[in-house]
Amino acid sequence: MGTADLHIHSIYSYDATTTVRGILKQAADVGLNVIAITDHDEVRGSLEAQQLAPQYGVEVIPGVEVSTSDGHLVALFIKSQPPAGMTLNETLLHIGEQGGIAIAPHPFNNLPHSLSIEAVLGALTDERVKGFLKGIETHNMGTQNFDRVAQKLSIYLPLAKIASSDAHIYWAVGAGRTSFSGTTARELRMALETNTTVPIPYEGESSSKAVLSWVRRIMMRQFGYASDARSASTPVDTQQISNSTLIKIKNKNKRVNK
Ligand SMILES: [Zn+2]
Ligand SMILES: [Zn+2]
Repeated sequence: MGTADLHIHSIYSYDATTTVRGILKQAADVGLNVIAITDHDEVRGSLEAQQLAPQYGVEVIPGVEVSTSDGHLVALFIKSQPPAGMTLNETLLHIGEQGGIAIAPHPFNNLPHSLSIEAVLGALTDERVKGFLKGIETHNMGTQNFDRVAQKLSIYLPLAKIASSDAHIYWAVGAGRTSFSGTTARELRMALETNTTVPIPYEGESSSKAVLSWVRRIMMRQFGYASDARSASTPVDTQQISNSTLIKIKNKNKRVNK
């Protein structure tokens, strides 16, 4: 059996604090076979990770967390980035037509950006798109206090059950993972298609430690620091991420923190 963490954010997300190399190193250190970097409406971190992955012995699936008008959607095995702002079903069609599949992250909790049960049932009853929604997060480390509804309803849904970290800090990578038969991305996809995955939730205490850890790191990020493969708080390597992106990140953070 292999394990995968299919929902991880890198510094290509405005609200995350770990470089792509930092994520790959942590994924290797905690024994993950497969990961997906799923930044908010940004696929570059994921593509960068695919190129670097062989150095770390981890397999990377190209992915992104899309902001649909119905809530967040994790897209996997994509070739191009779905535009933000489309409905869930339009987004699923876009993902499916390029050979990808999708997972409903942190659903049914009435939090902003989460898909509702109505939206998911709407997708599962739409002939054009129902085959492209393959999984549901029954466990998300970041929303673990709100996951019970998803866990209960998932029993009745034809979707593979997924546990993810939704990591925005380096040590959370793999804190929430999904077990599957095999060790490769291809075998993982087969497990998703056949609804045979097993979620392995994060067992640590909820979230005050994670929130404080994130707050400290997101503040350090304002000054150009991120967790990378060498240390939990070394300066961002500008070879890895262009200055223009870093400046964009800083500006976004300023807006967020207002
Ligand atoms: Zn999300
Ligand atoms: Zn996320």
